[in-house]
Amino acid sequence: MGKVRMEEMSWKEVEEAIRKGKNTVIVPVGSIEQHGPHLPEGTDTFIGEVLGERIARILGNALVAPAIRPGCSQHHMDFPGTITIKPETLMKIVKEICICLAKHGFKTIVLLPTHGGNFAPITAVLPEISSELKDVRIVALTDLKEFIDKMNEVMVKYGASIKEAGSHAGASETSIMLALNEKLVRMDLAEKGFMGKYTRTKLYSLGLKAISPNGIIGDPGKASKKAGKAIIESLAQHFASKIKEEIKAC
Ligand SMILES: [Zn+2]
Repeated sequence: MGKVRMEEMSWKEVEEAIRKGKNTVIVPVGSIEQHGPHLPEGTDTFIGEVLGERIARILGNALVAPAIRPGCSQHHMDFPGTITIKPETLMKIVKEICICLAKHGFKTIVLLPTHGGNFAPITAVLPEISSELKDVRIVALTDLKEFIDKMNEVMVKYGASIKEAGSHAGASETSIMLALNEKLVRMDLAEKGFMGKYTRTKLYSLGLKAISPNGIIGDPGKASKKAGKAIIESLAQHFASKIKEEIKAC
């Protein structure tokens, strides 16, 4: 299997890959943000990198750009270690990275946010990117609900309830991290988080700590490596078909 992560490739290898038709590039957009007492700050970024790589391999004609991070995590700033940038800053970074990728000859750029706070700024900057890069197709996977639903639908098959699967550091994200690198997961410190209903408006105005003092939404208790592998595979297959559909539709 050839390399697909641009960060691990030389310029010669990138040039050769594009020449041979790998003209799609996936750009994960992660975060540096608290994920409860048991998961690392890089969780969303690690998920984006692995998901991006798996999607690229399914597509067969794609590379993965370095994951963008930090993302927009203002609502996690009450927890140490979180680093955030303003939505306008993220919008600028995403746009400038797309301009670089287009210059090197990529014809399709896939934006893959894996952190909740990044979805809206990416959606907002899309028209600007498309008008600047007329010859490039931008595919933005910007449906946050779809992302969480897809993740949790698999987790439910592995014995968790939807509430346990959660939307932040719950069983779903914890399972993925166990599958990616279990050394970074402190299951001994995993605890139940907030299990009720909350609105995004409340989350963004008051911050996550006001909803969940331990930083978790969901319950990591039923997380497993097996479920994590299945979630990654299911998300990758789903997004790869979605990307293929969008390319066909143009
Ligand atoms: Zn996360």
